[in-house]
Amino acid sequence: MTIQAPDNATATAHYDIVIVGGGLVGASLGCALAPLIARQGLRVAIVEAAALPTEGTAEWQPSFDARASAIAEGSAQRFRELGVWEAMRREAAKIERIHISERGRLGATRLSAAELGVDALGHVIPNAWMGRVLHEHLSALPIDWHCPARVETLAPTAQGHYLALSTGAELTATLTVLADGGRSGLKEQLGIESRRRPYDQTALIAHVGVSQPHQGVAFERFTREGPIALLPLKHQAMELIWTHKSGDERARLALDDRAFLDQLQRAFGDRAGRFTKVGERFSYPLSLVTARESVRPGLAVLGNAAHALHPVAGQGFNLALRSVVDLVEALALGHEQGRSLGDLETLLDFESRRARDRANVIRFSDSLIRLFGASFPLLPHARAAGLIGLNLVGPLRRGLARRAMGLER
Ligand SMILES: Cc1cc2nc3c(=O)[nH]c(=O)nc-3n(C[C@H](O)[C@H](O)[C@H](O)COP(=O)(O)OP(=O)(O)OC[C@H]3O[C@@H](n4cnc5c(N)ncnc54)[C@H](O)[C@@H]3O)c2cc1C
Repeated sequence: MTIQAPDNATATAHYDIVIVGGGLVGASLGCALAPLIARQGLRVAIVEAAALPTEGTAEWQPSFDARASAIAEGSAQRFRELGVWEAMRREAAKIERIHISERGRLGATRLSAAELGVDALGHVIPNAWMGRVLHEHLSALPIDWHCPARVETLAPTAQGHYLALSTGAELTATLTVLADGGRSGLKEQLGIESRRRPYDQTALIAHVGVSQPHQGVAFERFTREGPIALLPLKHQAMELIWTHKSGDERARLALDDRAFLDQLQRAFGDRAGRFTKVGERFSYPLSLVTARESVRPGLAVLGNAAHALHPVAGQGFNLALRSVVDLVEALALGHEQGRSLGDLETLLDFESRRARDRANVIRFSDSLIRLFGASFPLLPHARAAGLIGLNLVGPLRRGLARRAMGLER
């Protein structure tokens, strides 16, 4: 893969669009801008702090430890439109059925692709593979990469924003898109506040081997400690997302593999078979973080910088990808109407396309945590009834499936 560096790293360079962060969201936006770049001859740059794999790195090796994401069918469609799906699906496992249950309760909800007349309810793809495919696609586009380079200063100017990079390079941009994951302090530099509600939960992530073929089933199991999700992976392993009360995960991270697998088996039961193997374990503290502003003149905030959600419903990246598409559509429309890329009217158009979807997804993910996390005595019965009810009441279940597939906004 070729990483294009600007000719003179210390001169101030002006771009129409600078994307801060080349993670899943920033890289997807770069790909989505391709038609606009071709039509309007836009100058676009991506600034990414982490070094990317250089050209000629070894062949893709599916790692037993890498993180993977549930990609909704709607997102697969968007990747098709970006021209990256054929490559993405090489390492994707189809989700053909979803099984939702609660420990100690009879209720279970089953969703199946066949019943809904679709090929798959979603797909599970290693994040590293998605990143690699997106970066390879980007390397063929006329986009400048500043990488590895960290944006250290971001300040508004009359025409857009000024960016100072860790390399000493200085950039100006008509439109800056903040896709830095929200932890770099740049939002705060701009005075954009975030609402932050820690869930007091930490997700423990690992790949696990199971004794029987997963047959494309994704499991979501609600336990007293928090939800456990198991997602099918291409090479017959499964991705485990095990939510703990914060602090409780430490003991499980320290267990030897055998003891860990035993505890997992007890918590999850045997509906996926026997757990035979576990890869490296990682932990992620979980909070609901939402930026109070997502647009300003010359600025749009995307991805985790705009909203970090609980991963229980696997919606964070799927939601962000819809934002990417809506932003590009708003920019194209703004251009047709003769407005500048950083024009507030254009960005407010983007924001109004986003607001409802974002609010719905945040409410949906958050309400699952509240419903299944609460411990009022009568709630478990209500939840079980709810799950059975979901299984019996077709339209309600189909609504859940449509949201899981990213088809519901
Ligand atoms: C445990 C877990 C499981 C999840 N599972 C799913 C799932 O199944 N499905 C789903 O849709 N979503 C899922 N998500 C959410 C998903 O991972 C996020 O929505 C997604 O990773 C956000 O990507 P991003 O590009 O916004 O941020 P990031 O992935 O954090 O990328 C930000 C990038 O910006 C770079 N950067 C940071 N600061 C700077 C700077 N100052 N200058 C330059 N570059 C900078 C970083 O190096 C990084 O590459 C999950 C999240 C968690 C925590």
